[in-house]
Amino acid sequence: MNNKVYLDNAATTPLRKEVIDEMMEVLSFNYGNPSSTHSHGRAAKNILETSRKKIATFLDANASEIIFTSSATEGANFILRNAIINMGVKIFITSRIEHHAVLHTLNALKEEFDIQIRYVDLENDGSINYSSLDILSKNDEKSLVALMHVNNETGEILDIDRVASICKKNGNLFFCDMVQSIGKLEVSLQKMNVDFAIGSAHKFHGPKGVGFVFFKKDNYLSPMIHGGEQEKGLRAGTEGIHQAVGLVKALEISQESINENINYIKELKGYCIDQLISNFPDCIIIGKNTIHTILNVVLPFDKSKSAMLLFSLDMKGISVSRGSACQSGSGRPSHVLAAFLTEENQLRPNLRISFSYLNTKEEIDKLIEALMCI
Ligand code: PLP
Repeated sequence: MNNKVYLDNAATTPLRKEVIDEMMEVLSFNYGNPSSTHSHGRAAKNILETSRKKIATFLDANASEIIFTSSATEGANFILRNAIINMGVKIFITSRIEHHAVLHTLNALKEEFDIQIRYVDLENDGSINYSSLDILSKNDEKSLVALMHVNNETGEILDIDRVASICKKNGNLFFCDMVQSIGKLEVSLQKMNVDFAIGSAHKFHGPKGVGFVFFKKDNYLSPMIHGGEQEKGLRAGTEGIHQAVGLVKALEISQESINENINYIKELKGYCIDQLISNFPDCIIIGKNTIHTILNVVLPFDKSKSAMLLFSLDMKGISVSRGSACQSGSGRPSHVLAAFLTEENQLRPNLRISFSYLNTKEEIDKLIEALMCI
């Protein structure tokens, strides 16, 4: 894989060596079941609870407000279903550019329950129209606002304080998908005033198959997966403590190196933008206030090149994507870009280039060189 270039870090990130070591240690020696009362079980339980406390400390929350899940998608399902069955939510206010973990879950819940889904207006650059959010969220029925902190396709950053204050003013619950911001931006769950949030380890150099839900303690929740009493009775199934320690180690290192990574990756992204603009002056860089890790660009190529673009780059060993990994094989235009780009620009080839601390300027040069040959 050495000559290959990986620029799809919004889809997933490589595991850090320290994370693998920590997981291997637990896999090798801590095989007890955290629900067992003997010493092996107690040792495993201790690891699990220490992991939970650490997540809470890193993200400024209480350990009792965190439960482990298999993924952020599971977390979104858990929160949205609970909002209906335990909190009496009748109206969901969201945007058409959320991840399918939220959008498809809401659509499925609408088939099952008598709920309404309302979509906020978007600006031409893919940001949220906050006046529209304010109007939509003023209503008499119990409502929940579901908006993501950082968009996984455009990288646009939500004005989270503004959304939280609109929600508080109008008496709405606020669920924020923080999958693309946790480990990359400073996150204080208390200060941000969100009621619910989700995170996923594989987006910040941790293992796949583990995530977590944050929920404010004053909300009553019931399990979506039934069985034993694990995770305070909210998620049955024996906990994978190697997954929990992997998540925590990855989060710990990400938090420690957050400023260093922001500076390094920001420069890399700036370099990539400069190279794109100087080689393809008519390209369009999407977004207004985007995160350092994600760059979405519409290329001034003929629409006939759309279908072959990713394939041609892949043949040269360069992994990038057009949008979220879950839909990148589908060939359909991204639901995110379709929500705010003009029809003409939707037909043009676009690329989501997403960076990590492991990328280099030489890799950007390889990408630009490959694009010049298309
Ligand atoms: N939300 C966002 C913004 C994402 O980018 C992703 C992953 O692509 C998810 C949710 C789903 O995360 P997971 O892979 O843990 O289910």
